[in-house]
Amino acid sequence: MKKVFIKVLRFLLLALVINSICPLKAETIDVYDTDMYTKLNKDFSVKEDFWNLVSIISEMTFNIKEYNGAAHINGIEELPSGLHEIANVTSPLTKDAVLTDTVYNLEIRLLYAEGTKADASKELKIAITGDIYKTIPYFRTQLAPFSIIEAKTTSECLKMLANKKCDAILINNAFLQRYRLTEYKNLKIAKSTIFEVPMCILVNTPNPNYIASILNKTFSQIPGNYYTKSLERSGIYLQNRVPSERLKKQIRIICFLFLGILLIYTIIINKIHNSRLKRQIEIDSLTHLLTLQGFEDRAVKLLRSQHFGLLLLTEFNVRDFAFVNRIYGSSKGDSILRIIGDELLKDFGQNRATLIARGYADNFYMIRWFVGSEKQILQEAEHYQEELQNVIGTKANVPIIIKSGNAICTPQDISKESIKDLISKAGYARRSTRNSMVENFSFYDEHLRVQHENEEQVENSIQKAIDNKEFVVQYQPKIDLLTGRIMGAEALVRWKTDSGGLIAPDKFIPILEKNGLVSILDRYVYRCVFSFLSLLKSENIPLVPISVNISRLGHDASEFVSHIDSLCGEFNIGKRYIELEIEERFAGGGDEAVKDLIHRLHEAGYTVSMDDFGSGESSLNMLNEMPFDIIKFDQRFLYYADHSESSKTILRYMVKMVNELNMTSLCEGVETKKHVQFLKDAGCHLAQGFYFARPLNEIDFKKFLVENI
Ligand code: C2E
Ligand code: CA
Ligand code: CA
Repeated sequence: MKKVFIKVLRFLLLALVINSICPLKAETIDVYDTDMYTKLNKDFSVKEDFWNLVSIISEMTFNIKEYNGAAHINGIEELPSGLHEIANVTSPLTKDAVLTDTVYNLEIRLLYAEGTKADASKELKIAITGDIYKTIPYFRTQLAPFSIIEAKTTSECLKMLANKKCDAILINNAFLQRYRLTEYKNLKIAKSTIFEVPMCILVNTPNPNYIASILNKTFSQIPGNYYTKSLERSGIYLQNRVPSERLKKQIRIICFLFLGILLIYTIIINKIHNSRLKRQIEIDSLTHLLTLQGFEDRAVKLLRSQHFGLLLLTEFNVRDFAFVNRIYGSSKGDSILRIIGDELLKDFGQNRATLIARGYADNFYMIRWFVGSEKQILQEAEHYQEELQNVIGTKANVPIIIKSGNAICTPQDISKESIKDLISKAGYARRSTRNSMVENFSFYDEHLRVQHENEEQVENSIQKAIDNKEFVVQYQPKIDLLTGRIMGAEALVRWKTDSGGLIAPDKFIPILEKNGLVSILDRYVYRCVFSFLSLLKSENIPLVPISVNISRLGHDASEFVSHIDSLCGEFNIGKRYIELEIEERFAGGGDEAVKDLIHRLHEAGYTVSMDDFGSGESSLNMLNEMPFDIIKFDQRFLYYADHSESSKTILRYMVKMVNELNMTSLCEGVETKKHVQFLKDAGCHLAQGFYFARPLNEIDFKKFLVENI
């Protein structure tokens, strides 16, 4: 419906534009009017008025030209032919010229002087003005023979009549009206006759028949006596013009009204559509809470009006919601989300003091206005969270843990940016306890603020740091426990500060993993490793395999493999000298993408090791599923083995298992001689740890390599 209206509207607008540029009926027509005597009488404007009237009625434009038809026909100027004569001739102008067949009458008045007798025996002297000169042939057919005295103006005619210089005068009736109040008033007139003189118009255009038909139609619309009346009383003349003007005006008004209504209709429809859209944008369809966008918009409008107190923004989240979805199904998950939304609404409602929204997945946001100290507010909020968790757990019949992050500001601080900022702070606080089993309520305090800012700083300066080569790579040797010789090394990155100190990767890798920039750093590290290997090669130092860490898989497996391939080619390094470490936390879930990557790396001829094995929660079956070449036991195994016999037993059997699965066993975090002995006894193949060497810079590693190869 709306589309049809828009189409109609467009069409009308187009028609209006086209009509205004090129009006449908607009034509300029050359008209040869035999009755135009403008040259003879400067005062003459009757015909102009007439043609103006025709122009208004026909909506055409006329270019009026005088045409003395008789002179053309007879070649004699003094004997001009009347209009009726022209009607009988073929146009001498062009073949296309046409005469209108409707004859329009011009009123001419014959006034006799007092005492004059109009009889056939006496030839009358008739004074005439130039403007009706050409109608004389017509009068010759109507009147007794007469001779002509030519006058220049009507008033001259009238004077002649008064002074008996002529017997009669023939004047245009219309002109007479103008003199009625002056000379004519005092005249003594014997007889007055009005003649209706037929008038024809010669039309000369490329489409004369069409124009002639329009003109005929137009003339038929002019009331018989209109022409005279129009000149008699200009009031009537104007009034008579009004109907067509008024009609036009009315049509115009109707058009504009119609367009206006259409426009209003379209605006209303658009508004309805927009408000529906806005609703969709602002209202979450699942919980009927606000969306985050609606939340941000309204928070600014509503909460800024509070003049005191504090605003607490909370981000609620269901712990392991993905797990809940997996175990109980997504419809149960949806119903849990609805229950949370309902509970929050029931407890607080959307009003000037509270706004509630659902963001992505199981993230809920609530901003509440509190009066009290920060401490009281947080206590109250934590208490509410516990209650909420219990209610939802009961209603959903699923053990639910609600986690939250909280941030505080004053109502005066509220703006669109500060709301976004507050949301980001609450989110940061919530994520800070993501992995904690005991901490469910977190507040964005000074400590978190500093941490958050540091992370942001890292995020902002990473690319610059790569460009400035602020990252350096160290190499930690891997030792063969049987021979005590170096069998390889792990490349570990460090961030060199301005003061020359080194920042450990734990401080920046997790941040880069979070924002996805870590793969940029990884590629930088790979390039450093290849260039180091190629340096060693150029110095004829025997190479050992160097392992590099692969960050969380955000990249395409085949693209990753071909990147490593291209580095091997570029630096002319054999594939056996490159190992790739994939952490258990990425590989543990039996992720198909990780499996695919391992498969492709194997196919390409690289060694793949599982890093930090035992640090996560992956099942032992994973060892079966994922075809790793080397299993790197997490440092925690040795740490626990130091403290408990059972941990030692577990590690011993794990090493045995890995060996029997035909994989290479490597233990990380080897710090003591005792560790070495234990691992040797357990049959572990390789060891890496401070006992042998810390991560070494290129020079120290080169030395170590040469000495221990
Ligand atoms: P990781 O891959 O498990 O690396 C081994 C970590 O254990 C290194 O810490 C190393 O210095 C440390 N280590 C080695 N021997 C011992 C020991 O005997 N005792 C103790 N207590 N620690 C030992 P580092 O270099 O701080 O690296 C930490 C983590 O940062 C790495 O753990 C790895 O996950 C990540 N990382 C390091 N370099 C890179 C890199 O280039 N790319 C990626 N994606 N991650 C990297
Ligand atoms: Ca590693
Ligand atoms: Ca490790």
